[in-house]
Amino acid sequence: MAERLVTLLSAEQIGERVRELGQKITKDYQDRFLVLVIVLKGSFVFGADLARAIDLRDCRIDFLGTRSYGEGTSSSGVVQITHDLSRPIDGQDVLIVEDIVDTGLTIAHLLDLLRTRKPRSVRICSLLHKPARAKVEVKIDYLGFTIEDRFVVGYGLDFAERFRNLPFIGVVECDGTR
Ligand code: 5GP
Repeated sequence: MAERLVTLLSAEQIGERVRELGQKITKDYQDRFLVLVIVLKGSFVFGADLARAIDLRDCRIDFLGTRSYGEGTSSSGVVQITHDLSRPIDGQDVLIVEDIVDTGLTIAHLLDLLRTRKPRSVRICSLLHKPARAKVEVKIDYLGFTIEDRFVVGYGLDFAERFRNLPFIGVVECDGTR
């Protein structure tokens, strides 16, 4: 079956929103030392763009590698840490950078995990949110776009490890032809 990619958010739309988020975060963390925690793999593109849209000298970047177990395209909320932070975060202002909050189980788990390490504050920045599928309530402090319940790919997001390199966000459709 042939597959077709339908654009949901263009590279231009994403770029503009990322710049806006960067400006807001810059303003909010003016007098702080910001620790950006980019959640791998899905947030590597968003994280790289967002980091460059944040105009702060007092900012460091760290990565948290995760793998969530689920059936097909849905997550179970059971998260395995595949790569831990490189430094402690106690007493620091942490901003978790996520690609998408779907059921909310993954981010709720990461919040619990990071809070055990006694940061001064932890906030969440997510590029996408699918409220229709929420299983737990999570406060997203900085949100790019709210989207419908569709499985999206591109701009870091994959389907079976493909499509992460697309510069836009799209939906995969099978059109039934060869
Ligand atoms: P949650 O635990 O909130 O249900 O899911 C979070 C994780 O599931 C995301 O970090 C992402 O890896 C994956 N995920 C959820 N929805 C989508 C989607 O529409 N597309 C892709 N590619 N991954 C998704």
